Amino acid sequence: MPFCTHPTHFTAAEFRIAVSGLKYAKGWKPASITLHNTGVPSLAQWMAMGATAQERWGGALNNYYRGLGWHAGPHVVCCPDYIWMLCDPEQDGVSVSCWNHETFAVEMVGNFETGGDEFGWGPGAKVRDNAVTVLATLCEKFGWDIARVLRFHRECARDRHACPGSRVSKADIVQRVDAVLEGWGEPRRAMVAAATPAAATPAIASTTDVQRALIALGYSCGPAGADGDEGPMTLAAVRAFRADHNLSPGGDDAAFRMVLAGAHADVAIGRLAGGAKPPASTGAAVRFNPA
Ligand SMILES: [Zn+2]
Repeated sequence: MPFCTHPTHFTAAEFRIAVSGLKYAKGWKPASITLHNTGVPSLAQWMAMGATAQERWGGALNNYYRGLGWHAGPHVVCCPDYIWMLCDPEQDGVSVSCWNHETFAVEMVGNFETGGDEFGWGPGAKVRDNAVTVLATLCEKFGWDIARVLRFHRECARDRHACPGSRVSKADIVQRVDAVLEGWGEPRRAMVAAATPAAATPAIASTTDVQRALIALGYSCGPAGADGDEGPMTLAAVRAFRADHNLSPGGDDAAFRMVLAGAHADVAIGRLAGGAKPPASTGAAVRFNPA
């Protein structure tokens, strides 16, 4: 499933590093970007939720989309502080009926209609700037001209949405994205590519990769360490990680790997300094590749 079971948040700088490491080797690549706004919650409602509620909000939004029967939702949601990755950025999302399959979906928290949240200053401008960074990051990644690939949801007549709100102007967004890209420039691009630690977006492919990531997160895989063997200690570590991240035992292997990669990236970026809490070892046995 493209839904991230444990949505991850990034600062604008972290998001750029994370995307620079994506391989897009899963058979899908976006051809455009579609900009949305939530409407509800408005920015005022969002700010009133407080930090802990915001942590839960990403997962709750995914549950909402899942409840609609969608196979995915928007890829990212931009907030005043963080950019939340809600769905696998390397698989197609759901956000606009006219060109769903080809687009990277960017949601902005707020109601940017007249009478709603401000978009030009205050928290609204911070949401805008995070969205601009997302757009610039994707243009950098795919070599795009923002003016050619940017779409607003309201351009899809079939959906009859005013999204992303009448206060959002395409010319303004295009100009801001171009300015960011100009500021980054070629030397900066090369620097980011060189500085991107492989661990920031680890490929969790083999058993050894899984073990390395678990060990980095503080889950012991036994005295042999990352030996490529699915021994009882390793399986206990997998179980404990699943339990700690609300992944069902024996459930979706792809979700497990994605959450593990996300947590590992958090550590690589230094967000979880000190590592995760030690694992408990209860529950049914699970395999890395359940049938
Ligand atoms: Zn929309």
